[in-house]
Amino acid sequence: MTLIPPPPDPAAEDSPAVSAHDPFPAFIVTTTADRVVVGVSTLVLDGLPPGEVLVEVQWSAVNYKDGMVTRPGNRVARTSPLIPGVDLVGAVVTSDDPDFAPGDLVIAHGYDIGIARHGGFARFARVPASWVVRLPDGLTARRAAILGTAGFTAALSLHRLEQHGLRPGTGPVLVTGASGGVGGVAVALAAAMGYEVVASTGRAGEREYLLNLGAAEVIGREDLIVDPARTLGPEHWSGAIDCVGGATLSAVLRTLRYGAAVAASGLTGGATFESSVYPFIVRDAALLGIDTVLTPIEERRGVWAELAGCISGDTVDALVAGEVDLSGLAPVLDDILAGRIRGRMLVRPEA
Ligand code: NDP
Repeated sequence: MTLIPPPPDPAAEDSPAVSAHDPFPAFIVTTTADRVVVGVSTLVLDGLPPGEVLVEVQWSAVNYKDGMVTRPGNRVARTSPLIPGVDLVGAVVTSDDPDFAPGDLVIAHGYDIGIARHGGFARFARVPASWVVRLPDGLTARRAAILGTAGFTAALSLHRLEQHGLRPGTGPVLVTGASGGVGGVAVALAAAMGYEVVASTGRAGEREYLLNLGAAEVIGREDLIVDPARTLGPEHWSGAIDCVGGATLSAVLRTLRYGAAVAASGLTGGATFESSVYPFIVRDAALLGIDTVLTPIEERRGVWAELAGCISGDTVDALVAGEVDLSGLAPVLDDILAGRIRGRMLVRPEA
């Protein structure tokens, strides 16, 4: 009898799934003294920064900061050329760290990702293992990207408010910029956690969307800013999640209930705001700063687990504005800066 050797099993090969010299697509932002050029180009793995974990990016998403790095004179991007994308979700290809193995589904966001080193708008990304979060149970890669930095910011904001004493059943919680990414997840998450959510938006047409996410009431952006000359207004909010800043944050501070806090994360309505000391010394109000870039990894992993456990898959899906591939990204980055994206726009580097 003649023994015919079986054909080689590709899965048994110990060479990596991708070679250091294989080209892959990447969306690249190049900044010169007087302009910023964006477009899809090809890169090889050797062009990625060092790190223990190589990830094949299945999904990223568009965040406000991703738009900012494409603006001339921005002070967000700290290197050029840069692959933006502060969010990345995908499967580990190779890992030099024992905590992660090929095939593991992971999320990475914040730190230098998409700002000072290449981010998620490419088929591959390489990151330090100490920045990587394993996908919490029950969360698919797509849903993790829908949540992404925006979801994490919303969850950390609520976490900080609860550390300050906020509890369901103690009165309305305001969410500003509610039609955007951070705002949309904040509405959905707070409602899922049992809070009475009042959503503030400049887009009257998104009322139904916000009610469907769980808002008990939807108010106009301008409705918040009543009597700006008064140092204090009526005591409305038991807590507030604000990603808008500017006059909106001033108005929120004037209308917090006694002992309440606002978690401030953003600046879409302005980077500066005015306040007297009265909310602080008469109403015992607190202004809690939210930074998701340097959140320590253990707290980051814990907040992700809480987020995944609190919000239903259907609610997460309802946050999706659409999907775009790398070739369609440039106009979407303009859209987010103009406040034209409702919820979360997904990016699929491989599509
Ligand atoms: P989005 O563009 O998705 O949402 C921002 C929302 O702000 C818009 O949808 C709009 O909501 C509102 N808005 C836009 N322009 C104005 C304006 N001129 N005046 C008042 N409201 C306005 O952005 P993201 O959710 O991705 O990010 C929101 C902010 O949070 C950004 O400033 C971002 O940089 C910041 N951020 C900060 C993080 C941190 O770690 N501190 C992490 C993540 C984000 P509507 O139409 O409903 O009024």
